[in-house]
Order: sequence, then structure tokens, then C-alpha cells
Amino acid sequence: NTFEQLGLNEALLNAIGDMGFETPSEVQEKAIPVLLDQDTDMVALAQTGTGKTAAFGFPMIQKINVQSKTTQGLILSPTRELCLQITQELKLYSKYIKKLNVAAIYGGASITGQASEIKRGAQIIVATPGRMKDMISRGMVDITNIEYCVLDEADEMLNMGFYEDITDILSHTPKEKATWLFSATMPKEVSRIAKKFMTSPVEITV
Ligand code: AMP
Repeated sequence: NTFEQLGLNEALLNAIGDMGFETPSEVQEKAIPVLLDQDTDMVALAQTGTGKTAAFGFPMIQKINVQSKTTQGLILSPTRELCLQITQELKLYSKYIKKLNVAAIYGGASITGQASEIKRGAQIIVATPGRMKDMISRGMVDITNIEYCVLDEADEMLNMGFYEDITDILSHTPKEKATWLFSATMPKEVSRIAKKFMTSPVEITV
């Protein structure tokens, strides 16, 4: 299989070529065509290192309307390091899409700097739950028009005690969005969050 066959557009294919990715990984083969084609929820059981960032990142980037500056995609991740890593990857993937802005929101850094980046218009926000909740409550970020929401490393986020923050954040997003949950393991807590926030998700395992 090739990236073309998965349905990705020219801008993404060119960036993929620059990064030197030759063939899609298993999670990419399973997730990308479904996420591009349907506005469905998804639960993906995938470890780090399987190429999961691109599995949700490519479809999200392709589906964003760059003519609008509204925040349309939200990715929640457990740590500042992962948040920055995902942001860097998404910026590489979208290097040929000039109007697409990706912003990182995480604790331990200036909140005003992050707020002003958001204010310039970020269609995609990659965030850790604590800082995200804080910025929502201060009115620094508007996620009422989110269409795509990723819960990355959901098991880790719940282990770290982010259940309340995630619930609070999702309560500020529209009901009719697509939610894509990625997790290395599927303990009861993860199934519980999937049941609470998702409708008939497509399930994939790698
Ligand atoms: P992830 O599982 O998203 O953390 O990705 C692990 C690493 O694999 C990252 O450095 C990606 O840039 C890289 N990667 C992702 N997909 C592919 C692919 N299809 N071919 C080669 N490398 C990839």
C-alpha cells in the first residue's frame, strides 16, 4: 500500500516525501482511510512508535478548513514533551499548507505567550489537559467549534489523574464532533471514557 492509496492530498504527500516516509505503517493503513472518509469516532489500540501521530495527524490536517481561522482540531496529550513532539510533527506534515497554524498549550511556560499565539488563529491546538482547562476558564481559548478531537495516550492521561480535566474540557466542545482515542492499553478507565464521550467508534488494533 502507498500513501496515495490512502487518499491523502498533494500537500501532505509532498511533505511525507520530504520526511522520507516510504510506506504507511499498520496503524496508518487502518486509520487514515476511515478517518478521511467518515466523520466517525475511533478507538485505536496502538503503542508509541507505531506512527500513531501521523495516523490521526494526516486526516486532521487534510480535513481542516484553512480558509477559516477558527480552532477546529484539538489534541490532548499527557505531557509537555509529548505535546511539543506532536506539535513539531504536525508542523512538518503541514509545511506546504501555508494557512494552517498549529499551537501548543502546556504548563510550565508563559500563559500570555500561548494566549497570543492562539489569538492569531490556530486551527489546531495540541494541549496538556491542565493548562488547557486553565485557559478555557480564563476565556483565552475558544473550543466551541471543534470538529475533531484526539485523546492521545488516553491510558497515560487517566493514570496521571486528568479524568476531571478531560471531562471539563470536552464539556466545552460541541456534541457533534469526531473523537479519536488512541491508547497503548485499554483498562476499564479508558473504556469508561470512550463510552461516555464516543458514539459507535470504529475500533482498530495494531
Ligand atoms: P509515533 O508513533 O507517532 O510517535 O511515530 C514514531 C516515529 O516514526 C516518528 O519519528 C515518526 O516521524 C516516524 N514515522 C511515522 N510514520 C512513519 C512511516 N510511515 N514511515 C517511516 N517513519 C514513520
